[in-house]
Amino acid sequence: MRSTKFQELKRCADGSERAHQPFQKWSELWIFTGTRCNLTCRSCYTESSPRNDSFRFITLEQTRHFLEEAQELGIPKICYTGGEPFYNPEFPAILDLTFELGFQCFVLTNLTRPYEVSGKVCVHRHVAAGHPLHIRASLDHPDPEIHESAELDPAAIRRYRVPPALNAEREYWFDAGFNRGGGNFRRTIGHLTDLFSAGARISVAGRGPQEVGGDLFRAYAEETESVFRELFERSGLPADLPVKIFPEIGSRGDFNVPEITEHHCRTRIPESVFDDLMCNQTRMVAVPSTWNGRPNTVPLVFPCTIVPDNPAMALGRTLSESIARETYLADPRCYRFCIAGGASCSEG
Ligand code: SF4
Ligand code: SF4
Repeated sequence: MRSTKFQELKRCADGSERAHQPFQKWSELWIFTGTRCNLTCRSCYTESSPRNDSFRFITLEQTRHFLEEAQELGIPKICYTGGEPFYNPEFPAILDLTFELGFQCFVLTNLTRPYEVSGKVCVHRHVAAGHPLHIRASLDHPDPEIHESAELDPAAIRRYRVPPALNAEREYWFDAGFNRGGGNFRRTIGHLTDLFSAGARISVAGRGPQEVGGDLFRAYAEETESVFRELFERSGLPADLPVKIFPEIGSRGDFNVPEITEHHCRTRIPESVFDDLMCNQTRMVAVPSTWNGRPNTVPLVFPCTIVPDNPAMALGRTLSESIARETYLADPRCYRFCIAGGASCSEG
């Protein structure tokens, strides 16, 4: 039977008012560079791949338009994510423009082949010029075999990563590896080390199991982080390099989570959880390839990095328009990523 949850933007299935958030204050603006990526990782939040065109490459001119509006609004930092930003042919020019206009800049990248082909020279030039650039590299797991392989023996994975205090029978979503491809672990670590030596600000994003109440995810994150620290030391990186472990969040169509009502959110969830939501303090610009069933080339503004594939969550065509509207937590990933997962793509 089709679920009745998440069908209406402003009401939950039981008729209650859905939780909603007014915009508070800009911390940063996110720009989605497109869903093309050289890799096809398992459980990619955006299902990116070399063939996924569901979000177009944002162009330099489209980006310029939003950067100019961001200047008018006093937004200090621009963050880029994809897909792989360096797969977007205009991304080096987009980076140049970001610094020309005086922004701080944060880039999420896999630091593999596209970075080598079209990003490295440009990034090192900006680092050498002292521009405020922060690169966060995705390293799903500190073990190269788990990070790179698509098919691993599940028993071997359990041997690696089941925290001893937890039930070893539990199924992990990543029990077959992350599929980052042979050689890419060493490649990413090598570029991180080069960037660190050049004086760049760097950090790492890892992945963990789906949050289902807290303990499993926290135990996994704690254990994995300590293995990351050993890896950093062995690789000539600072042991205290920032590393964030992100939860698995499922798809937009996986409704097996509670809907968040306004009453529930005001009475049972700590206020601090809402203070940190991306939708309170940022927006993301993305260019869906289709809109209302027709081909589309126009950028749209969404509340955060997690939900641009949900048309109901779109907030308009300009940043000003988007912040005048409240964000309704009308996507199952609002619960998985933010409310239960306590996660945010922002570096803080
Ligand atoms: S590198 Fe990142 S964007 Fe590309 S497929 Fe993997 S998780 Fe997705
Ligand atoms: S996923 Fe999180 S940040 Fe995005 S709209 Fe939902 S609650 Fe807000």
